[in-house]
Amino acid sequence: MTLPADSHVHSEFSWDTGGPDSPARGTMEATCARAVRIGLPALFFTEHLDLETAWFTDPEDFGDHERHLVAADGIVSVPRFDADGYFEAIERCRAAFPFLRIGTGLEVGQPHLRLEAAANELDLTRFDRILGSLHTLEFEGRRVEPSTLYRRLPAEEVVRRYLAEIPDLVAGDEPFEIVTHLDYALRCWPEEEEGPFDPRSLEQELRGAMAVIAHSGRALEMNTRRLWPWMPQWWAEEGGRTISLGSDAHTPAALAHGFPEAVAMVEAFGFRAGRDPRELWRR
Ligand SMILES: [Zn+2]
Ligand SMILES: [Zn+2]
Repeated sequence: MTLPADSHVHSEFSWDTGGPDSPARGTMEATCARAVRIGLPALFFTEHLDLETAWFTDPEDFGDHERHLVAADGIVSVPRFDADGYFEAIERCRAAFPFLRIGTGLEVGQPHLRLEAAANELDLTRFDRILGSLHTLEFEGRRVEPSTLYRRLPAEEVVRRYLAEIPDLVAGDEPFEIVTHLDYALRCWPEEEEGPFDPRSLEQELRGAMAVIAHSGRALEMNTRRLWPWMPQWWAEEGGRTISLGSDAHTPAALAHGFPEAVAMVEAFGFRAGRDPRELWRR
């Protein structure tokens, strides 16, 4: 089996890998070395471009290595993406790992809100793969992380609001080709109080979100942090034709996490690889 590209990988150029001195740091070079070691033919370094100037979080929702970014009032401000440093590192790694196909990319948070402004500062055409992500939701006049919202709203309501914003995310023509981690709000689902998340309780909302993404012509990422068989199944049934596979690795060890199982899962629903491992999978 040839593995597909990991289309969602972070390096030291993403603010939440913790900066140069953090033990959580996953460098581009170490991640490339790991790719070669596990036989991954291709990957895309899709660094965070978070476009809100500030958003709100409870400090406990941030790891030790990133808590310095949260002010006393809970407002987060993140450093700017260093595009020049990033492209230099890409070139260094392409020279050092000639048999690995290293793609460039961005993971844009809330592209429907600020991508146009970002495009004025950054030449988006330089990137091979742009992911669109929803990381925050509107709540009481500010943008808030879902993990923080679970302390303020009923659990199901958080997921419902997350899915309700998907039509706005994909309504415009912002140039991102893949919608990432549709299950983002489920990562911090309060299982202890609520029990395991039951997708059938929000099936209509999940399918509705998938249908609008499919209609926008974009691909849906199968985020391999957690594999949900309903994700490729409902995506296919709602008209979705293309997918990417992404581990969302922030450390070398997490690269291509769960890929063999994910490949088997999406193949079962009719998705097939292209000729080049960097291509999206189609059905
Ligand atoms: Zn993300
Ligand atoms: Zn990510």
